[in-house]
Amino acid sequence: MIAEAPLALENEFNPWLAAETRFNEAAEKLGLDDGMRKVLKSPAREICVHIPVTMDDGRIEVFTGYRVQHSIARGPAKGGIRFAPDVTLDEVRALASWMTWKCAVVNIPFGGGKGGVICDPTILSAIELERITRRYTAEIIEFIGPERDVPAPDMNTNEQTMAWIMDTYSMHHRQTVTAVVTGKPVNLGGSRGRSEATGRGCLIVALQALKRFGLEPSNTRVVIQGFGNVGGMAARLMARAGFRIISIIEYDGAVHNPRGIDVNALLKHRKETGSILNFPEAENMDRDEALFLECDVLLPAAKENVIHSQNASRLRTKILCEGANGPTTAAADHILAERGIFVIPDILANAGGVTVSYFEWVQDRQGFFWNEQLVNGRLEEIMVNSFKDVTGYAEKHAVNNRTAAYMLALDRVAFAIKLRGIYA
Ligand code: NAD
Repeated sequence: MIAEAPLALENEFNPWLAAETRFNEAAEKLGLDDGMRKVLKSPAREICVHIPVTMDDGRIEVFTGYRVQHSIARGPAKGGIRFAPDVTLDEVRALASWMTWKCAVVNIPFGGGKGGVICDPTILSAIELERITRRYTAEIIEFIGPERDVPAPDMNTNEQTMAWIMDTYSMHHRQTVTAVVTGKPVNLGGSRGRSEATGRGCLIVALQALKRFGLEPSNTRVVIQGFGNVGGMAARLMARAGFRIISIIEYDGAVHNPRGIDVNALLKHRKETGSILNFPEAENMDRDEALFLECDVLLPAAKENVIHSQNASRLRTKILCEGANGPTTAAADHILAERGIFVIPDILANAGGVTVSYFEWVQDRQGFFWNEQLVNGRLEEIMVNSFKDVTGYAEKHAVNNRTAAYMLALDRVAFAIKLRGIYA
């Protein structure tokens, strides 16, 4: 027998191929017929727009933007908009399908979507960014809306971007429509608890996973990669819950203290010095080596493809809690499974963000806003139930958690499509 050649890393890192590999595996296990597979795989709608914008120096520039609505079977499409120079349609397509599966795993009534504009925000002024955002919104305006497709922030977009989209949409509709986007500022219809929701969701599922290992937070060592929105918040909340955060990894290096790091002091140190490095209460460490420290929970919360076929065998963690989207390549999945690492897959672990986005949409439509305690309580209920659904499915079908999460999601979306029927 000839051994199969390992995928070249560049193929392994292609998000669309990764999404397809996991989709195929789950569809096969579910025994989905060919027709349903085609429907589930194909994005419902792909929009490409070319956006003319007057730049600050008077030149006219044209930017290309996309919005992909992968599925609207269970509700309006839902997903972020990113601004980056390397946005591709393949990437947006893959991310849109991820959103479909993520919303289905946590059982909220949304499909999946994603958008992107090819631009380099580092060289654009705030006014240019506003013009790009407003014209992009105007170009896709008939395809978005509270009942159609609800964008949110993603890479290089934020609360301000959402406020511009909401305003542009509202001006065209001659009324204020806050529910057209989520991730807005709280005083414009945003939800309390949204900015910490993804990190909080990671904490909730990590606590569930600890029980399987007989661990208590106080004897749980955590390594976190990425000290931004997700990783920084997860670190703070986990430390508050009593976890021992032994290492934080950033793009310029890592810090390590086996007795535990004071997360709030580290945040203060970074604010003062611009870096987590040279923190007096920890040792500096090489960022690539820190990923392989012995720990109980590893939480990658920086970027995609950090755990791959060439390094998965070096991880020394019991639990991998995927805060980032796509931190593990499909080719690394079986290595982690063989090594018995308990994976909380991204479409479950980081779904706290979209869950509170759902709460934001509900609050906007009700015109009645919840306090933070209610938001956090409802988030906890959804995350705990989803964790139980996925792990229960994994045990029932004798598959790993990632395959279980995909099977559960595909099954839920396929069920909705079957009930609705194919419109002719
Ligand atoms: P962020 O930009 O706030 O934080 C990312 C951090 O990672 C930054 O501090 C950055 O310096 C660091 N980083 C970048 N490259 C690194 C590297 N090679 N090694 C170590 N650190 C590195 O972004 P975020 O919002 O926290 O998102 C992080 C991940 O979580 C992304 O994959 C994102 O898609 C995913 N995610 C975010 C949310 C959310 O609500 N923000 C929700 C779901 C998923």
